Amino acid sequence: MKAMVLNAPNTPFAMTEVPDPVAGPGEAVARVLACGSGLTIQHVKAGRISAPFPRIIGHEITAEIVEVGAGVSGLAVGDGVTAYYYLNCGHCRWCLANLEPLCDRSGGNVGRNCDGGYAEYIKLPAHIFIRLPQDLDYRAHPAEIGVITDALATPYKVLRRARVRAGETVAVFGAGGGLGIHQLMLAKWARARVIAVDVAKDKFDACRKAGADEVVDASGGNAAQALLELTRGEGVDVAVDYVSSTTTLEAAAESLGRHGRLVTLGGAGQRFEVSALEMLLKEQDLLGSRYVTRSEILETLDLVARGEVWPLVSDIRPLAQAEALHERVERGEVIGRAALLVGR
Ligand SMILES: [Zn+2]
Repeated sequence: MKAMVLNAPNTPFAMTEVPDPVAGPGEAVARVLACGSGLTIQHVKAGRISAPFPRIIGHEITAEIVEVGAGVSGLAVGDGVTAYYYLNCGHCRWCLANLEPLCDRSGGNVGRNCDGGYAEYIKLPAHIFIRLPQDLDYRAHPAEIGVITDALATPYKVLRRARVRAGETVAVFGAGGGLGIHQLMLAKWARARVIAVDVAKDKFDACRKAGADEVVDASGGNAAQALLELTRGEGVDVAVDYVSSTTTLEAAAESLGRHGRLVTLGGAGQRFEVSALEMLLKEQDLLGSRYVTRSEILETLDLVARGEVWPLVSDIRPLAQAEALHERVERGEVIGRAALLVGR
């Protein structure tokens, strides 16, 4: 099969002929139709996230099962599938409690610790594949359907994690990014008042289109003040930080009102200071949110199937153009998500 192989970190993709994967016991092979090109996998390509090389990256797939190995049940040839990003064990207390991102026997990630979706075929442990709902036309929209598993499902989970209710105010830090823009979309879907916070002025229009009621330009360094002014000094109910630098986390914490919830995920993951007294007096919550559970992916797929939300994929290209597409991802130029079309 043809595959876009990375032979070492921070090198260009090499279109390479590699052996077709064969399903062993408990595994399945799928033909890839499309694969999302987000910042996480660009971090692997650039060497900022470690991975064994050579590697075929990519996990936000739309694919069709072509082979199932011995002992596999629940998957059949011809099934439309996407993939769970974590190679979770499926058997530990966390997996059994429907908290798979916390799996304590995880084998890592699809497209990082095993080969991923930038190839004509992908082989995974069968339980990592997630069957697509019947009423989702994945053949007509493979790029959009592929990115649901991360770009849309991760922010969907945040609504749950932060207990977002209709009428509350949700501020999204890093709103112009691939996940941030889908967080705006989902917060709006949840009937919240939505405020986008970012430094990239060229993304502000897209933020408004995605659902932001207001946009705060954080480049002046006064995001917390702006959020307090927009809420008549009350503060926001929920601040979701996709940047998670010391600066954004402290601004997010400062912008929280009574019973406010701060959610950190992705980004820089830096240390920050908060006032314990403020947290106590206002009964605030500090929350980490890690990827998404399998059942939340199914719920997100259903939301799309019902037409309630639709992923924003603004740059879709053939696999052969992976290098040019990743240059745009690296420069932060993509609005929403980018994706590669692989097979038909
Ligand atoms: Zn587990």
